[in-house]
Amino acid sequence: MEGVQRWTVGDVVITSVVEAQTDHIPPELLFPAATAAEVAKHEWVVPDFADEAGNIGMRIQALVVEVAGRRLLVDPCVGNGKTLDMPFWNDQSWPFMERFAAAGFSVEGIDTVVHTHLHADHVGWDTRPDGDAWVPTFANARHLYTGAGLEALRDPGGYDNENVLRDSVQPILDAGLADVVPEDADLDDGLRLASSGGHTPGHVSIWIDSRGEIGLISGDFVHHPVQCAETEWAEIGDADAEEARATRRRMLHEAAESGALFIGTHFPTRPGGRVVVDGDAWRFAPA
Ligand SMILES: [Zn+2]
Ligand SMILES: [Zn+2]
Repeated sequence: MEGVQRWTVGDVVITSVVEAQTDHIPPELLFPAATAAEVAKHEWVVPDFADEAGNIGMRIQALVVEVAGRRLLVDPCVGNGKTLDMPFWNDQSWPFMERFAAAGFSVEGIDTVVHTHLHADHVGWDTRPDGDAWVPTFANARHLYTGAGLEALRDPGGYDNENVLRDSVQPILDAGLADVVPEDADLDDGLRLASSGGHTPGHVSIWIDSRGEIGLISGDFVHHPVQCAETEWAEIGDADAEEARATRRRMLHEAAESGALFIGTHFPTRPGGRVVVDGDAWRFAPA
């Protein structure tokens, strides 16, 4: 991964720290209703977001949000050495912390960790191994959760829930570093959460409003830019596909209306840009 991607929204600076990007993924693996040919029909997705055949890229990244001397970390990825049922994510060894340090950050300097939701790829670096135990990585940070998000995680039927709760969330709760916040929590300095459920219960996105500029960090209400055009395509992990479709259209509409700098949490290659009206749907125009 070459260089560091950084965006500004007024006084707010957002930096991407990439854990992994995978390209040439057959789209039906993530979106059962999709085909590569249907993806490739949307010419604007090539080459940043898909190859010429229509196979897609996906990125796992965390975002550091800096404002007014604060440093918030959003969605800290899968992590290394985690026991997970998802084979692509089990027991990995990515140089994420090296990239985090190279981008100028330290674990001590993070004061808040924000989770759009509690899937395995959004909480992993919250803990690190210490002997046989998992202990908090960002020991100076308050870690924000929604009540519905924690409740959904405690459902033993959810994919990888037991592993995520045990290794990545319970150690934060036990250390007293967790805050349960409303889904529309005001985080001050122009940052606020907004409910965007459907992918999971209690899912939130993050709006930024600073000196007249607007930004939006999506989380997983949209996984890939092609869903701006194909809003009906459910992702395999969507807990409530109908609610997720309605949320996707509502949030994309709000992003386009506000002219927000939109950062797609799983968007590959050029994840920051603008959502632009295109017929009765949208397209994504990278910044
Ligand atoms: Zn997810
Ligand atoms: Zn995800």
